[in-house]
Amino acid sequence: MSSAPMVIKDDPTLMFTNAGMNQFKDIILGNQPAKFRRVTDSQKCLRVSGKHNDLEEVGHDTYHHTMFEMLGNWSFGDYFKKEAIEWAWEYLVTVLKINSELLYATIFEGSPEEKLERDYDAANIWAQFLPKERIINGNKHDNFWEMGETGPCGPCSEIHIDLRNETERAKIDGLSLVNQGHPQVIEIWNLVFMQYNRKADGSLESLPAKVIDTGMGFERLCMALQGKTSNYDTDVFQPIIKEIARIVETEYDENPQTDIAMRVIADHIRAIAFSITDGQLPSNAKAGYVIRRILRRAVRYGYTFLKQKHAFMYKLLPVLIDNMGDAYPELIAQKELIEKVIKEEEESFLHTLEMGIRLLDRTMVEAKSSGNQTINGKDAFTLYDTFGFPIDLTELILRENEMNVDLDEFNTEMQRQKERARNAASIETSDWVMLKDGTTEFVGYDYTEYETSILRYRQIKQKNQTLYQIVLDVTPFYAESGGQVGDVGVLVSEYETIEIIDTKKENNLPIHIVRKLPEYLKAPMMACVDTDKRATCAANHSVTHLLDQALREVLGKHVEQKGSLVTPGSLRFDFSHFQKVTDKEIRDIEHRVNARIRANIPLKEYRNIPIAEAKELGAIALFGEKYGDEVRVIQFDSSIEFCGGIHVPATGNIGMVKIIAESSVAAGIRRIEAFTGEKVENLLDTVQDTLINLKSLFNNAPDLSIVIRKCIEEKTELKKQVEGFIKEKQSILTQHLLDNVQEINGIKIIKFCGLMPPESIKNIAFRLHKEITKNLFFVAGSTDAGKPILMVMLSNNLVSDGMDAEKLVKEASKLIQGSGGGKPHFATAGGKYTDGLLMAVNKIIELANISKIRQVD
Ligand code: ATP
Ligand code: MG
Repeated sequence: MSSAPMVIKDDPTLMFTNAGMNQFKDIILGNQPAKFRRVTDSQKCLRVSGKHNDLEEVGHDTYHHTMFEMLGNWSFGDYFKKEAIEWAWEYLVTVLKINSELLYATIFEGSPEEKLERDYDAANIWAQFLPKERIINGNKHDNFWEMGETGPCGPCSEIHIDLRNETERAKIDGLSLVNQGHPQVIEIWNLVFMQYNRKADGSLESLPAKVIDTGMGFERLCMALQGKTSNYDTDVFQPIIKEIARIVETEYDENPQTDIAMRVIADHIRAIAFSITDGQLPSNAKAGYVIRRILRRAVRYGYTFLKQKHAFMYKLLPVLIDNMGDAYPELIAQKELIEKVIKEEEESFLHTLEMGIRLLDRTMVEAKSSGNQTINGKDAFTLYDTFGFPIDLTELILRENEMNVDLDEFNTEMQRQKERARNAASIETSDWVMLKDGTTEFVGYDYTEYETSILRYRQIKQKNQTLYQIVLDVTPFYAESGGQVGDVGVLVSEYETIEIIDTKKENNLPIHIVRKLPEYLKAPMMACVDTDKRATCAANHSVTHLLDQALREVLGKHVEQKGSLVTPGSLRFDFSHFQKVTDKEIRDIEHRVNARIRANIPLKEYRNIPIAEAKELGAIALFGEKYGDEVRVIQFDSSIEFCGGIHVPATGNIGMVKIIAESSVAAGIRRIEAFTGEKVENLLDTVQDTLINLKSLFNNAPDLSIVIRKCIEEKTELKKQVEGFIKEKQSILTQHLLDNVQEINGIKIIKFCGLMPPESIKNIAFRLHKEITKNLFFVAGSTDAGKPILMVMLSNNLVSDGMDAEKLVKEASKLIQGSGGGKPHFATAGGKYTDGLLMAVNKIIELANISKIRQVD
């Protein structure tokens, strides 16, 4: 069996493959029959989240990786413990010729509270090969394997190896070092004997078909075979380590700190490159965020310990591909994309790092200035949360400055965030209630209605909402997968109609989600899909195939599908391409697709054909998708793709396609969004209505763009003219006002009431202020866009005498129902009541009480 993709797309409980068994979960759970009863494989795994998270160890130790290859053999109801143990021994000792003196086995010691006895079977089988003292009892934590909170489980038996040299082995007995975290006495192979099923109430029941699941770390095996004491010294990692050493100009194996950094980078580049090829780009949510964090961890180690201030990880790709491209050709095919994505991520994180360092500098200065040697934990948490600064980096920088951080406070903040995340994600799932045995038959490619009955159901609670999941005997409902959303519809019996609000897949089992359970659970029912939604969904799905084809024709063969979302309303298609798609290219793509729609090409569906035959047809497969030995192929003439989705019977049913948006989602990835059929019709209606309206505004001119351009030009010309007139009027008016100064008690009163834009009055006011340096009292009233405005300008000597333009304006603005403000020498006000303008102007003069002031003088 070939490796399944490392990125898991259709399982809500798991983001990445973390063990060989993941791809066989549906078989182990009994949702699918096993096609083969015996299997062997090598599976790419990633252990960076959830149950298996080795991230913090990676680089610091020499035998845990984020991404590694797990070798395994399986039995689905075929051989069991005896063969599994005997063959494991034969493989290690006889085939690979590993010194049997170095090997130890652990077995399950039993658990009284679970009423489980010691695994005597395994102990007896091992006793054929190993002396009694090298068969070690292990507790539930180490030697009892569970798939999750519920589900298949059973005892396991691990093989450990002592890789120390003879002198060391003579000094300390290896037996005392097994399972003690010694870097050279390590587990290499785990043999799991699944014989129980754990129920939601915690009890165990016997599993009808027993399963063997074994997993051996390829890198650790290499270390054993090549006589090394670190995975990084094997030929799996050495070429990468050497390339890092060359780039950063630092020797490996010289300084513990730089060695750790180099191991981190050598490890992480593999995890990141493989994730991207499997279709998981770094992003700020879910699986994408996990990948982003791995990448940032590597960049940070490079930055801090290897002095890499510029992007450098992407430069490791040629060596990685040289090393692993033969076994994983998907790396070669997507080299350009991987490089581009990594480089851009590195650059953006380095930028964030620098901003964080600046913030930390400021925080340190502030703390110091208030006599503190300790920065608070909240600030450290902000650095961690927003700038990706792990606490050890913050501490390192602080230490260099003889400062430290309040760790307790930091940990409290961290704990709080974890709780928030847990509460948001927590789902309570009850046990399945079984009504009938069996698995679901899917008939949705041929039917939208089918007679059925309920096999089992269960309750789920999430965010105060209670829903039910129903498994049917037969179903026409398509479960969300391959980017196409799940069908909705109803379950109808003689007694009631229940709405199905969504259909999802869990370990290959179609699950129908309802808000309310049928009252008569055992009644025969009809499962009816909402055919309107199904039809538009099918059109949107088929058109993604035609778009994919046209994109390759117009933009080039490098275009790879990188994600899609097909809903009844619209479709979204992400693909690799390195520039913006131009308007002309979009047109070209649309025209090609629409021509194929008009050609009404009939659907040709190949159901369950051997994968080799599909490849022969030239069908396009997706990177990062898991395909069985038999696949489904969808063909519309020369568009041929692997696909499990719902499609139109002929392209004519799509009606028409219109691309409504083109954008960038990440480095090297573009997105187009499109409408089909009725949605395009609606869109065209709106566009046409707008045009008709516009035309009627322009007297039904035959060419709108000509008249609108003319209109704009005329406006520009008029504006220029008006500005000229205003300037002219402004200087005439200024002169007129200067000629008509009214003097009372030595004060030069200038009063203006008339039409003039406020900007011009202001200009005039400042000109007067310049020309009449003493005793100027200028007051103006005008309107701006129909609203009254007031303005007062005073000479500085009057202000010194105690006059205040702002006070005057504020008081007078009541008469125009407005308000105002400004400075003592210049103030303005706006209002609503134009008829009060003249009164307001007079009021200002009256309020100034000019005769009185001068009399005092
Ligand atoms: P350990 O205790 O060393 O972390 P484990 O108990 O987590 O190992 P299993 O889950 O039993 O390991 O996985 C099966 C095998 O996969 C192990 O025996 C080991 O050879 C390998 N393995 C597990 N985790 C890693 C890892 N992070 N990096 C490399 N190999 C690993
Ligand atoms: Mg582990």
